[in-house]
Amino acid sequence: MPIRTIAPIGEPILRQAARSIDRDELASSETQAFIDDLVATMRHAKGAGLAATQVYDDRRICAIEVGDNPRYPYKPKIPLTVLVNPTITAITDETFANYEGCLSVPDLRGLVHRAVGVRVEAWDRHGEPIEEEIWGLSAGTYQHEVDHLDGVLFVDRVEDPKTLCTWEAFERHHKGPFVARVEALVKRFGG
Ligand code: ZN
Repeated sequence: MPIRTIAPIGEPILRQAARSIDRDELASSETQAFIDDLVATMRHAKGAGLAATQVYDDRRICAIEVGDNPRYPYKPKIPLTVLVNPTITAITDETFANYEGCLSVPDLRGLVHRAVGVRVEAWDRHGEPIEEEIWGLSAGTYQHEVDHLDGVLFVDRVEDPKTLCTWEAFERHHKGPFVARVEALVKRFGG
């Protein structure tokens, strides 16, 4: 399972919409090996998620996993989830302010408003349908990853550029109030 190179902001592939794949392409040994690489690369980089476009591939596939993540110690856990051809729709008008970072945008975070509840439809890596409602902070993680497959980066959704900060400045100035908000969100919606 080779670790793939992560595309940094500015690479054209990050601005492309990924292409949907059919069940035959999904079942191919090449695509299955690619999914293994995607997961291995996400874990190696300690990301909460990784989309195919972030490793220079145009298939509409992303992976999400939150364990004990030192980048995001306040995030509720999400078991390893591979989404193939995902679509995502907000199921509430309510939003929350999420401080996001991205493996393709090194050392930058910014405040993004995300729907607090979403419906996700996709296949898993074996082509079985996934239909889930995701609530709370985890809904932000899903929206961030599916955005990648539409060529959208979190910086596009930062309404106030003054919220942009390095990870060190986030720790020093913004983490305290943000974690307090996140804890309230996690209390309401659970994992
Ligand atoms: Zn990202």
